[in-house]
Amino acid sequence: MAANKEAYLTLKKELDQQGVTLVAVSKTKPVKEILELYESGHRDFGENYVQELVEKAGRLPKDIRWHFIGHLQTNKVKLIAPFVQLIHGVDSLKLLKEINKEAVKSGRVIDCLLQVHIAREETKFGLDEQEVRDILDGTAIAEMKNVRICGLMGMASFSDNIDLVRAEFRQLKEIFEERNRLRTPDAQLRTLSMGMSSDFRVAIEEGSTMVRIGSLLFGERGQK
Ligand SMILES: *Cc1c(COP(=O)(O)O)cnc(C)c1O
Repeated sequence: MAANKEAYLTLKKELDQQGVTLVAVSKTKPVKEILELYESGHRDFGENYVQELVEKAGRLPKDIRWHFIGHLQTNKVKLIAPFVQLIHGVDSLKLLKEINKEAVKSGRVIDCLLQVHIAREETKFGLDEQEVRDILDGTAIAEMKNVRICGLMGMASFSDNIDLVRAEFRQLKEIFEERNRLRTPDAQLRTLSMGMSSDFRVAIEEGSTMVRIGSLLFGERGQK
């Protein structure tokens, strides 16, 4: 199934009107389909496996802004540090340190989001509120000149229960605002990455500034 250009244009317009950034999640999809959206003017694409991202980035135009949205292992950071636009899923200080180290080597400052665990499900990665606080207010971060924490990311429970999903997004937004109340104007967190194909409208109602959408644009995964 080809990327749905019409779905893209409609969605893009809706999100632009609300000032929300669209990350087109192209995981498992071939470069040909990514190029179709690229030719419609899209530049922000998200992948969740390092190998796949590196391979695709090598074959696609250099002005694509690649978002890493998966669980990043420290030993893989070096592979994406030279080019990645935004790392959404930072969930430990150790990982942040590694990103900083590789960013120094690449002569870059890498934007990162801290991933917060908001879902009731046990399996999803992420920090709790206290851990977010410890990282943002800690002394270690002040010494990492080559990473910039520009916001938070979260995934709601995979559930039909809209009230539950909404409550989880709301919780993340509250953490986001609470941190910003304590930060100086020039250090405000700006990006709140929450919302996928099934729940992005709820996420936007709850304050999302960036949505990560795959199946709505490219069709269900695992189906060609
Ligand atoms: C796959 C994925 C998405 C996109 O999911 P869809 O339901 O296809 O929109 C968003 N965020 C993360 C972290 C993902 O792994």
